[in-house]
Amino acid sequence: MERVILLDMDGVLVNWADEVAQWFSVSSKELQGAWNPGEYQIHKVLSRILARDAGQIKDGIVREIVRHGADWWAGLHPYPWAGKIINACTDFVGRENVYFCSNPAFTSQHVSIGPVMEGKMRWLERHTKKDCRKFVFTPHKHLLARKGTILIDDHGPTLVEFERAGGSFIPCPAKYNNWHHAADDPADFIVRMLDDLKHMEGGFNV
Ligand SMILES: [Mg+2]
Repeated sequence: MERVILLDMDGVLVNWADEVAQWFSVSSKELQGAWNPGEYQIHKVLSRILARDAGQIKDGIVREIVRHGADWWAGLHPYPWAGKIINACTDFVGRENVYFCSNPAFTSQHVSIGPVMEGKMRWLERHTKKDCRKFVFTPHKHLLARKGTILIDDHGPTLVEFERAGGSFIPCPAKYNNWHHAADDPADFIVRMLDDLKHMEGGFNV
């Protein structure tokens, strides 16, 4: 059976949240301390920290994203653990079977998809070099689900949907998801999950 890993970008490899918070002069530490598990919308967290209307914050985020366009997405910093995650996936299924899988359709309809995709492609070119063409951009990740395919993602509902559609998942822990207890070292958590799979009786059978 072919083994494939689909590796999400935002929230797994790419630190977009801290840079959004910076637009509102909120530090990474403040942001991390304010997330609630199950709360995926950053404008709600920022609204709590700043005691400002969530709708206004959301509009502000959309405005900035539109204003900066592809350059913003292309210039986002990788998490310090991004390389460790990519290497662990490569060791597990082979470099040829690791794909970058990202949703380019930002939740607001006011953000056009083109610049987001361009920015994400440029990010991959810059940070993954030879592997930058191994991407799947889709808001419908569950359509890629099948036996032997593992999605590594930080968005709980996407993981559940992927599993329901016949795939497997490894969550990337974050303060805003159900695996928040491991959010301080997501790479270590993912490496351990991959190790567990490796040592499961009968080998890979997920
Ligand atoms: Mg994500």
